Amino acid sequence: MSRPRHPVPVAGGEYRVVVEKDYLKFSAAHFIAYKGFREPLHGHNYQVSVAISGAVGPDGYVLDFGIVKQITKAVCAELDERVLVPADSDCLDVAREGASVTLTYEDGARFVLPAVDTVLLPIVHASAEELAAYVLDRLRAGLKAHAVRGLTHIEVGVSEAPGQAAYCRAPF
Ligand code: ZN
Repeated sequence: MSRPRHPVPVAGGEYRVVVEKDYLKFSAAHFIAYKGFREPLHGHNYQVSVAISGAVGPDGYVLDFGIVKQITKAVCAELDERVLVPADSDCLDVAREGASVTLTYEDGARFVLPAVDTVLLPIVHASAEELAAYVLDRLRAGLKAHAVRGLTHIEVGVSEAPGQAAYCRAPF
């Protein structure tokens, strides 16, 4: 009796590759601020995970894990040991003057930081959700620069503490 022939990879199947590595992490300071509320400055040991969906190519895989690890690691390195500044905040004035960055909250509270200790991010709040969206955006741009094809979605998780993560999923 012959084995039934199945087309492999399964026709029309969608595959998902997940990268969760201990070294995809960064330690950073932040505070959540929105109109009427500001957290005190504090820090987290953030952990990043990535899931990528797409079709399996003729080479047998969705994409090279190595590219995902390389791009994500580089983004983590940029955020590591920095104050994460939400440059598009609606309640925080962010001013870069010479070698300093001054953050002024709506009640007049002021932080003056060395610019090299900060990273100004195109986000409204320095929440795990918006950090996940930022990492996703950078990862997508990096994968496109590597001419990666056939992907459908990217999902990035950012955890602030073990068992406490926010995920952002978007089309590739
Ligand atoms: Zn926090």
